Amino acid sequence: MTNTNNKIYCFLGLPGSGKGTQIEILSKKLNASVISIGEEIREELESADFNDPFYKTMKSLYDQGVPQPDEVVIDIVKKRLQRINNHIIFDNFPFSHNQADLFFSICKELNVSFPELIVIDITPETSIRRIVYRKVCADCSHISSDTDVEICEKCGGAMVTRADDNEETVKERIKNYLPRIKEVENYFSNFGQVYIIDGNGTIEEVANLVQEKIK
Ligand SMILES: [Zn+2]
Repeated sequence: MTNTNNKIYCFLGLPGSGKGTQIEILSKKLNASVISIGEEIREELESADFNDPFYKTMKSLYDQGVPQPDEVVIDIVKKRLQRINNHIIFDNFPFSHNQADLFFSICKELNVSFPELIVIDITPETSIRRIVYRKVCADCSHISSDTDVEICEKCGGAMVTRADDNEETVKERIKNYLPRIKEVENYFSNFGQVYIIDGNGTIEEVANLVQEKIK
């Protein structure tokens, strides 16, 4: 089980904030385990016994693309806290006031460190620009939020604009994300620690800001 010497960080950010990249960088630096609820649910379902009503319901929600109830999410988080003996980074969790509240309760119960929240902060305008107009490499699928880049930095292939995220879809996601990020931010500022990181810089600049803040 993770213990009080191990840190627990939670990352939130709008689409296009570069949160995923920053999690990757920090997890390598700390040798931390990364937990994304979506992936953990898939993993649970892979080995689940569907005669068990708990998993049967879970599978049914999963197949319909409906989010799992907070109790299920927390149950999975608890199992991971008990299993992982390491620093932990949560990707996009907790994602509501209630999840944050339940999360703090199990941390108390298990006597592990209280989680610290890192918000990679960008404006809705930046989010839209980066997601809708980002470029993707036609050869290796490398994604760049630099809307002017023409040559892939990874393989030299051609960077093209991807059309699968239109502006309306992204605006809907932002509208859903913003109040959730706010309420989790408020929860952590009352009961824990929050670091707001300016997400407008380059990957390296943002990574340095994260490092400085959590030191
Ligand atoms: Zn490429």
